[in-house]
Amino acid sequence: MQKTAIFPGSFDPFTVGHESIVRRATLIFDHIVIMIGYNHSKTPFFPLEKRERWINQVFQDDNNITVETFDGLTVDFCKKVGARYILRGLRTSADFEFERAIAQVNKQMYPEIETVFLLTVPEHTPVNSTIVRDIILHGGNASRFLPRCLDMDEFKPI
Ligand code: ADP
Repeated sequence: MQKTAIFPGSFDPFTVGHESIVRRATLIFDHIVIMIGYNHSKTPFFPLEKRERWINQVFQDDNNITVETFDGLTVDFCKKVGARYILRGLRTSADFEFERAIAQVNKQMYPEIETVFLLTVPEHTPVNSTIVRDIILHGGNASRFLPRCLDMDEFKPI
């Protein structure tokens, strides 16, 4: 049976940290669906259309990695696409505490689901979308934190 994993997040923007987790996970799963979720408690910095386009660009040569947007619960999306695994990345113990609660609640809502965590590579531990947005907002160069194939001019402050 095909092993499909969902990689949910806001990806505002998608960073080298996210890219590395997805690429490493392709050694474990047959198909990875990157799910860009809607976070109703915060307004995104980059429009959904751009975030989706950028991620599609990063994985344009990988037909086992697809990108979708979804406004709803991650477990409902898993059911919709027939996925039994949720992929998440861990950087710090703070990530772990946050992720633990979400994974355990997801397990209660959908017992067949397993959340699989990959520990970040050391050089990506400090990379997070909030810091990358801040660098961009203040006109700094965030290129080392963003996937190589993307055009940095597109990340200019909006
Ligand atoms: P969310 O809003 O759901 O936290 P994010 O876009 O911030 O979404 O992150 C999606 C996933 O990627 C989370 O599991 C997060 O821990 C993981 N992640 C974010 N940055 C990194 C990184 N630098 N290295 C490894 N995993 C990361």
